[in-house]
Amino acid sequence: MTRCLVRRRVSTQISRAARVERRLHTDLQMKVAINGIGVAGPTLAYWLRQYGHEPVLFEKAPRLRTSGYLIDFWGLGYEIADRMGVVPTLLERCYRMERLSMVNARGQEVAGMDVGPLRRELRGRFISLARADLAAALFEACAGVEGHFGVSIVGIDQTGERPLVTLSDGRREQFDLVVGADGLHSPVRELSFGIDKQFETSLGCHVAAFRLPAYPKRNELTYVSHTVPKKQVARVALRDDETMVLLIFRSELLEGEPSRDQQKGVLRRVFGDMTWEVPEILARLDEVDDLYFDRVSQIHLPTWSFGRTTLLGDAAACASLLAGEGTGLAMTEAYVLAGELHRAGGDVAHALSAYEARLRGFVTSKQKSALRLRGFFAPESRFALKVRDVAVNTMAIPFFANHLVARSLRDDFELPDYGS
Ligand SMILES: Cc1cc2nc3c(=O)[nH]c(=O)nc-3n(C[C@H](O)[C@H](O)[C@H](O)COP(=O)(O)OP(=O)(O)OC[C@H]3O[C@@H](n4cnc5c(N)ncnc54)[C@H](O)[C@@H]3O)c2cc1C
Repeated sequence: MTRCLVRRRVSTQISRAARVERRLHTDLQMKVAINGIGVAGPTLAYWLRQYGHEPVLFEKAPRLRTSGYLIDFWGLGYEIADRMGVVPTLLERCYRMERLSMVNARGQEVAGMDVGPLRRELRGRFISLARADLAAALFEACAGVEGHFGVSIVGIDQTGERPLVTLSDGRREQFDLVVGADGLHSPVRELSFGIDKQFETSLGCHVAAFRLPAYPKRNELTYVSHTVPKKQVARVALRDDETMVLLIFRSELLEGEPSRDQQKGVLRRVFGDMTWEVPEILARLDEVDDLYFDRVSQIHLPTWSFGRTTLLGDAAACASLLAGEGTGLAMTEAYVLAGELHRAGGDVAHALSAYEARLRGFVTSKQKSALRLRGFFAPESRFALKVRDVAVNTMAIPFFANHLVARSLRDDFELPDYGS
């Protein structure tokens, strides 16, 4: 009898404690506006949701993007994707590239290396896939999260206790935190930190990417490229008889920043003197309706947060495509930001400074190492091109492939465990 009473009293206490905890949890629940459904945005939304918060995603595009350029994906990004349960989906959509092949004007390989040893060194956790497929898989994992396509954050008023956000459809809404996950040219960064240009460091290159259907030359699972001083053209055979083309060139070959309407003309002019398959590729530019064209830049901000607005991914600290790991960095920042918000139990200011303190050194080191790779894509001179080819052939020697290259792909950062 006594034992029964005790048990009942204990269970009443437990359920009261659970009620209090639930109430506390509800009180601490944060409503977070996230601008951008790319890589960082959905990753943050997923983890915030896991911790019981209410993320709301906004994306200026009318729907999830498809196609686009191909990315290599490994390391921390892969680990976070695993924790989110999306790796099986990524494996369905990925390519396991086998070779990097640099060819001369006659299409003969002058330098090359197999990707297999590298993949083995990373225990198979190295894949290539369309950035759009990664973004889609991350968004699909956000079941139950409110997402708005064709809507952007266009104003942030931080004069009150909670930021008041103005949306492009005219609505105004209050949030506990506003996050810019809106890429290299982040509008949220501009809204909160002012003039954008002062934070952007040009790396002196421009990049264009597009897809061609039924391109006649295919080398399956091989990244084939032809480089002359200051410019490179590369192609990768994709599924469904598509080919992705990537063009990289030194920005000094441009006369000012071209408008969208001028971009194809600029590519024809800049690459017009190249041989190999370049004339054939340029002749098909008119068919392209989703040309990606941008300058290659990094973002360096004195701080990633301003009041209750913060940034992540390319918006905060873009390392550029030269780093080859922008998606992994974006996902790591999202994972850590959500974790620190969870750990800080409602103290947003503390969470934002812990988020930045944990990651800034690591991200800065990635930005620095990206700078060394500019000569790989667009070498300055014939001599620099020769040096690059020798370097690639050296990396093809198993010892270097296994140790140096694989080591350079490892991340010097351990993901914290934030519990659930
Ligand atoms: C050619 C190329 C090759 C690359 N190769 C690799 C690679 O091999 N490996 C790798 O890891 N990374 C690679 N990267 C880098 C990688 O793509 C980025 O670092 C990564 O996508 C950053 O993720 P993010 O979510 O911060 O930004 P993004 O992926 O750019 O997403 C930002 C999102 O915000 C949206 N947005 C923009 N403006 C607004 C607005 N006003 N309102 C609402 N939404 C908005 C955009 O439409 C987009 O959906 C490459 C990049 C390029 C350009």
